Formats: sequence, C-alpha cells, structure tokens
Amino acid sequence: MARKVGIYTRISRDDEGDAMGVARQQQDCERLADLRSWQAVKIYEDNDVSAFKRNVVREEFELMLKDLRAGLIDGIVAYDLDRLARQPRDLERLIEIFDERPKSEFATVTNDVNLGTPDGRTMARIMVAFANKSSHDASRRIKRKHLELAQQGKDSGGPAPYGWRKDDRTKVDPDAARAIREAQQEILAGVRIGTIRTRWWEQGLGNPRAGTKRMAHHHVEHILTNPRLVGYRTYHGEILTGASGEPVKGEWEPINTVAEWEAVCAAVTERKLQQRPGKLLARKYLLSGIARCGLCKTKIRGQINQRRKPGSKATKYTYQCSVVNGGCGKVARVGEPVDKLIAELVLEEQREKAAALGAPIQQQWPRESELEAVQADINQLIEAEKTKQITVSTLLQLLPTKEKERDELKLDRARFYKDQKQAEAQVRSGELSLAEFFDLPVERQQEIVLHSLSAVMIHPAGRGRRIFDPSLIDPVWR
Ligand SMILES: [Zn+2]
Repeated sequence: MARKVGIYTRISRDDEGDAMGVARQQQDCERLADLRSWQAVKIYEDNDVSAFKRNVVREEFELMLKDLRAGLIDGIVAYDLDRLARQPRDLERLIEIFDERPKSEFATVTNDVNLGTPDGRTMARIMVAFANKSSHDASRRIKRKHLELAQQGKDSGGPAPYGWRKDDRTKVDPDAARAIREAQQEILAGVRIGTIRTRWWEQGLGNPRAGTKRMAHHHVEHILTNPRLVGYRTYHGEILTGASGEPVKGEWEPINTVAEWEAVCAAVTERKLQQRPGKLLARKYLLSGIARCGLCKTKIRGQINQRRKPGSKATKYTYQCSVVNGGCGKVARVGEPVDKLIAELVLEEQREKAAALGAPIQQQWPRESELEAVQADINQLIEAEKTKQITVSTLLQLLPTKEKERDELKLDRARFYKDQKQAEAQVRSGELSLAEFFDLPVERQQEIVLHSLSAVMIHPAGRGRRIFDPSLIDPVWR
C-alpha cells in the first residue's frame, strides 16, 4: 500500500511579488509525492503568515504535527525547509516526531534537506539557525525604525482607528467621536461594555468588520480607553514617554481631555476588579469528555439539570447524552455518584500500582557532565569561527557530530526525567484520599482518571429507576 503523506504549504509576506503562490507549491509537492509513489492524502496550508514571528500560531502546521504523531500520515512533503520551519523550536518538534517514528517519509521539492536521516537533521538545524538569525536582524532593523518614528510622535500606518477620518488619520471624524463620547458617558454612569457593544452593533457604530460579526468585547473596550484619545503615542500597547518623562504626544487631533479619559479608564478597571470574584467560569465536570453513552458511544458532558424542582436545595448535575452533540439523547445519569464511584476505582487501582512499584528514588541524570563537555566543545567551535580561527565550512564540518552527540544526550536526559516524573506522579495520586482528590482542580482530577481509564461507558437505566446502580457504569481500563 502506498505511503500516505501530508503536503505542507505556506505563503508568507516575503512572497509578495514573487510568483511562489501556495497553488504552485502544492502542485510541485504533489508531483514529488507521485514520483516517490506516495499518496498525498492531506494538504496543510498556512496562508500569509510568517514562520518567523514567534507569536504566530501556524494552525495547519500544528495539525500536521499532530497527524504525523498519531500516524494519520506517514510523512511530509514541503516545498523547502524555509517554508516548513524557520524557528529552531518548530524544527526540533518535527525532529522529535521523526525520532519517534523513524520510518516516516520526508521530502522537499528543492531537495535542500532530508529530515529522514540523522545527517539531514543536523544540516536542517544549521540552516534554520542561520535563517533565524538573518530574520532576526531584519526584524530588529524594522523594529528600531518603528520605535524611532513613535518617539517622534509620528503616527503608525494602517487603517484609521475608530474616531478618526478614514482618509486622514490625524483628523477627528466628528460622528465617530460623538459616539465614543456618548459611550464613555454611559460607562461612567455604570453601563457595561457589553451593553454598548450590542447597541453599537445594532446601530452600525464602531469598526465592525465588513458587516459580518459584532466587534469583540475587548475591541470595544479598547476604542473607549485607547490612549490615542488624548493624543498619547503608544508603542506595543504602552504609552511612550519622552526624555522629560512626559508622555509622547502624537501628531493627531485628540478626542478626550486627559481628565475625561482617565475617568473612563478608571471606571472600566474598577468594574473589572468588582467582576472578578463573582465571575464564575463554566463549571467543568470530572467525566466531561471521558464518559460515553452506552448506547450510541458519543462523548457525554456534564450539565446542570434545568428542570430542577423549585425549592430543591442542591444543584444537581447530570451526565447527559446530548442530541446537540450528535448523540442519541437517551442516556442520562446523575453525576455525583458516578464521579465518586470512578474516583474510588481509579484511586484504588493507582494505590495498588504504586505499592507494586515501591517508593521512587530521586536521582540525578548521571550523564550531566558529559553533556556539559559536549556543549563546551560546540561553544568553542562557534567562538573559533567568530574569531576567524576556523572558517565557516570547517565549522560546518565539525559541528554536526558534536551536535548529534549533544542532541542524543539531551533526549536521554529528557527520557530519564520523564520516566521519573511519571513514576512519582503515580505514587502521589495513589496516596490521595477521596476528599483530597475532589479538592484538586478538575483538570488535575481528569488527568489522574485518564491515567487509568480511557473512557467510562454509561449504560441506560430502565424507566423509573431511582437507585444508582454501579453495574451500569462501565470503566474502560487502559
Ligand atoms: Zn447516546
């Protein structure tokens, strides 16, 4: 059977003007997959994002890593390494998967690198390290320029913020400015941002995106509290101060006086502080997403029973197979006894396992000094190239072996501590009492349950049954 591969394409801002569109990358990758007799089963396409910007999440790239790890695809075809991974961190994550699944396939159209072989990985690391450096340099230059302009009070580019004229962002748009001032008055009178958000949406005010959704809450908040309203120049969200310590003033017309603006900011902040304790997050239930319907096998979530009798004291939650989530809707069980039963079973099992393992011995990874020595060698080589004692090509000849040694040691260390941590965690959860278990955050509780169980099947109870029957709750052990 043909090996199944995923094709990864990415278009970045650097590609502007260059004909290397996603469509062509994809075509070339498909042709290459054909040549190798691989079956291209999935296209992962990240559009118009830079792999260099650290905070940009490349969703499709992430998905591809997941699929590769899970074995849904057997390998990757990309146009070149640059498109696949420009950050060392991303590359290391990819390499980790290739380490775990050594039979995975890999190819690039430009044939610049092959992650399928150890030498190829070392080469890739070097290439990414160099690419990363030049991107950093370019990015640093651009940043410095931006900051310079900001310090002079120059406006940043881009579309005009709400409140200023679209054709000239230094001039106030009177209608928008009026809407902002009105909303600010409401805020001071105790109206919530959410209410203003709805009203603006109905009246077509603010900056809604081309008639689609309503603006996000934080977006409305930003419009009403933006330092730009008093003419303050910000840089990365912070008000810039000049040499005198005073805020840098921008070259545009303000909408608020400093006093007006500060009052609105204070009101918004105060309101947030008040809201915090009362603002309960949606409660999570222990077996949400772990429990499954015994009839249709759909995942079940916990929910508060809305049809509660008036006057009944405790709010009962149930695990309910839900038609909304694609289930049959025929199975429901009061949650609390199920949680208690499962917690008891899981803790019991983990106690037994922990007893069998014995107390874990805290140990240092024994090869730490070896790793330090290899790292020192690497540093020395890099330093030697910097001070021109050796050439780049000598460096690149010597570096790979050392780096490979280092990476293997690091992997060994990671495995060592991971095993230790897992053993510890098992002993610890085995020591928990039921009460201690339920005192943990739900996420922790779920983690412990998932350590022992892969699912909990909840079978239907007959009509009119009132007594909790544990035999209808079926834990699926790992
Ligand atoms: Zn069901």
